[in-house]
Amino acid sequence: MRRDTSRPLGIAARRYYRSSYHPGPWFESWLDLWEGDLLLPGYGWLFPVPEGRVNVGAGLLNTFRGFRDVSAQRLFDAFAAMLPPHWEIDEDHADGPVRSGPLPMGLNRTPLAWPGLLLVGDAAGAVNPCNGEGIAYAIETGELAAELVHEALVKDRPGVAMLYPQVLRERYAPYFAIGRGFARLIGRPEVMGTATRYLLPNERVMRFALRVLGNLSDGPDGDRQDRLFHVLQRVGAALRP
Ligand SMILES: Cc1cc2nc3c(=O)[nH]c(=O)nc-3n(C[C@H](O)[C@H](O)[C@H](O)COP(=O)(O)OP(=O)(O)OC[C@H]3O[C@@H](n4cnc5c(N)ncnc54)[C@H](O)[C@@H]3O)c2cc1C
Repeated sequence: MRRDTSRPLGIAARRYYRSSYHPGPWFESWLDLWEGDLLLPGYGWLFPVPEGRVNVGAGLLNTFRGFRDVSAQRLFDAFAAMLPPHWEIDEDHADGPVRSGPLPMGLNRTPLAWPGLLLVGDAAGAVNPCNGEGIAYAIETGELAAELVHEALVKDRPGVAMLYPQVLRERYAPYFAIGRGFARLIGRPEVMGTATRYLLPNERVMRFALRVLGNLSDGPDGDRQDRLFHVLQRVGAALRP
């Protein structure tokens, strides 16, 4: 199996804390991580999970300048040290160790199917390049693979399972094309600076951005934003097949 190096790759580190600070239903996202006076490439997040715990993490993409010089652990340490002390993101409130790992994105493995083998989830590089989510994609690709294997067995036609790469491309290629463009854009500090200043305060733009970055759409039959999202995917797929 080969990694397609034209597709983005991320790394991330995450730890859980038992904190009395509760950020509400929101996902806190930090786009500037400082280690003293040094601005590190990458981003940090914090969001609540059940049982009074919070998920705190930091990551970066290989499209960011300085990717090779910064480890996920270092980013995480810098981020945790930046958080206000009353949020209780410290050693005393930690619930388990820091875990770090790669985020293989945008279907960056080839081939995705081999006689007797279908790659799913991280093995297929199925993490969403827009937001680093991989759990839903691991479940979905597992389901698609299982359906094809089932059909191949029931019909006694092993070749049906080899349709898997095509099925994945149809499902994800248009969206991941946007994701690859997005990963490249956010790797450029001047683009991020301008976007943070002018787009972040605009609620309508941010609502649309959330929909796109989360891959949440009712498709071409949805509302105006869904239709725009659909057009973007078609254009993205045409430009970056
Ligand atoms: C720090 C970090 C934070 C993340 N946060 C999020 C998040 O908030 N939301 C989200 O959606 N995604 C997140 N992800 C991505 C998500 O964790 C993965 O995309 C997802 O877990 C992939 O699922 P998977 O089943 O493909 O692989 P895995 O979850 O890695 O499962 C593979 C399993 O196979 C086992 N295994 C490996 N080799 C063998 C072997 N030889 N024999 C038997 N078993 C073996 C492993 O032990 C493991 O249990 C995060 C990733 C990282 C690194």
